[in-house]
Amino acid sequence: MKTILTGLRANSVFTIGNYLGALLPMVRLAKEHSGDYHVNLFVPDLHSLISEVDGGDLQANIMQSIKFYIAAGLPLNDNVHVYRQSRVPAHSELCWILNCVATMGEMNRMTQYKEKSEGKASVNVGIFDYPVLMAGDILLYSAEYIPVGEDQFQHIELARNLATRFNNRYGEVFTVPVSTAEQVKFMGVADGIRIRDLLNPEKKMSKSTKAENSKIMLDDTPEKAAKKIMSATTDSLGKIKFDMFNQPGVSNLLQIEALVSGVPLQDVVSTWAGETKYGDLKKKVASSVSGMLSEFQVRIEKSTEEQVYELLEKGEEYANRVANAKLLEVQKAVGLR
Ligand code: ATP
Ligand code: MG
Repeated sequence: MKTILTGLRANSVFTIGNYLGALLPMVRLAKEHSGDYHVNLFVPDLHSLISEVDGGDLQANIMQSIKFYIAAGLPLNDNVHVYRQSRVPAHSELCWILNCVATMGEMNRMTQYKEKSEGKASVNVGIFDYPVLMAGDILLYSAEYIPVGEDQFQHIELARNLATRFNNRYGEVFTVPVSTAEQVKFMGVADGIRIRDLLNPEKKMSKSTKAENSKIMLDDTPEKAAKKIMSATTDSLGKIKFDMFNQPGVSNLLQIEALVSGVPLQDVVSTWAGETKYGDLKKKVASSVSGMLSEFQVRIEKSTEEQVYELLEKGEEYANRVANAKLLEVQKAVGLR
């Protein structure tokens, strides 16, 4: 049985970018395929440590992120596995072995590393190395499909390269994930999804961005979210058009509207073609997003800690079994066993 796998860093509450770009596509795939695929939705808690975190907050965020998975509609059947990365030590083991396969040259090209380290006086090695840990997260489970936002495509390509290089050097151990072009097709989207920062639409929306008004969090009140949309940066061109290059702010609003309402982007774009009032577009998007949040927040209230622990117990037993078997193959291939 093939595996679909994804994880969202639990360093804070998720943004609507995480939700629309990764969580919702994953849940949709899980609903469609969990009859005949394994679906691994894990909490990459080791990845959380690349930003400074408070231990107590981390535990609370882990709990909340799993409640988000459930509230987003994750089907809870036997083929769906929810686990915490740090409860499966094989992840860190494999990371070291893959570190010895990855090269400084390819790691230096990672744009997420450049963005996350920009302007910082001191950068931890984890920020540089986390794409290798991520490659291990994928390869341990022989996952072929990894629904992620567009910002993570480069890391999927890295995982493919490391798997191929390892196999060439040590024998066929890893399943190589499909290319990002095929990932997009499998996810059923035209392109990779990248929701933009509301204040600086040239950048992607990120949960770790400091400015509150640049991002909408899944626990924002619907009113607060509406206000943030109303104050989003647009431009002075006065035409509602989808043009990410020249009008990223307006295009972002159209994109959010399409994903939240479930209407194809071209249809949303043609509905607004010829319109000029950005205020009207913002009101529509604000109302769609606040509607989505109020429904989501009702569902979150319904999931309980007991439900989460039950899922984790089952998921972590499965994950350790699969990951340890793959790690042993790797250890044998490189001569450690
Ligand atoms: P951080 O700032 O902590 O890196 P993040 O918002 O980038 O937070 P991640 O935990 O790095 O979130 O990523 C979780 C998932 O969400 C990944 O699949 C990533 O591609 C996706 N994602 C993150 N930001 C966006 C965005 N703006 N649009 C679409 N998908 C996104
Ligand atoms: Mg990120």
